[in-house]
Amino acid sequence: MAYEAYFFDLDGTLYDNRCGMVDRINSLIDEWILRVVPGKKDDVATFRHDLFLRYGGTLPGLAVEYNSDYYASLKFCHDFDVREYVKPDPVLRENLFLLSGRKYILTTSYRFYAVRVLKALGILECFDGIIDAVDVFPAPKPSEKAFRRALQITAESDVSRCVFLDDQPRNVAAGHKEGFFSVQVGTEFPPDPFADAWIPSIRDILTIPQFRTEG
Ligand SMILES: [Mg+2]
Repeated sequence: MAYEAYFFDLDGTLYDNRCGMVDRINSLIDEWILRVVPGKKDDVATFRHDLFLRYGGTLPGLAVEYNSDYYASLKFCHDFDVREYVKPDPVLRENLFLLSGRKYILTTSYRFYAVRVLKALGILECFDGIIDAVDVFPAPKPSEKAFRRALQITAESDVSRCVFLDDQPRNVAAGHKEGFFSVQVGTEFPPDPFADAWIPSIRDILTIPQFRTEG
């Protein structure tokens, strides 16, 4: 079966998490938490992770439970030069161009940041659109609402012709449950039992037999 549309996670999927960029974002999130909830100074990392687990993201949790300004928090936590962490990836660019079908970003981060990361990787023009944290607020991945919203925004009507790729096992499992061909990317976590395929790096995307063009 030919797949018609691909939904890619951004952070940890289109680049390797070991570059340290997510650590930078998390330290900015911790700064923001202490502005909103100053009493959390001693256990800010635990507090951040708890909101992440319950909401799929810390910032939506802060907005819902503590009335944090969602847009301001997204801007603050992604306000740095991403080129310190990611470089152009010509192999990935080539493989994305060889993969036929519509391609979207489905991220829990901020659209303006996503554009900067895609530009830094040299792959912005490989994509047809971005679904970001604002689009799926207040229920990002792994919420089923996030997947349905992504299909709605992109007007992709047949989920069985859609692929979802992510580095987080719980997101991969949720994508599978929603009917996507769900691919786990990366070596940070063991492959989820519900993953339909697993690749060590996004650069390996064309090794998945189902994505090879006939002929
Ligand atoms: Mg990710």
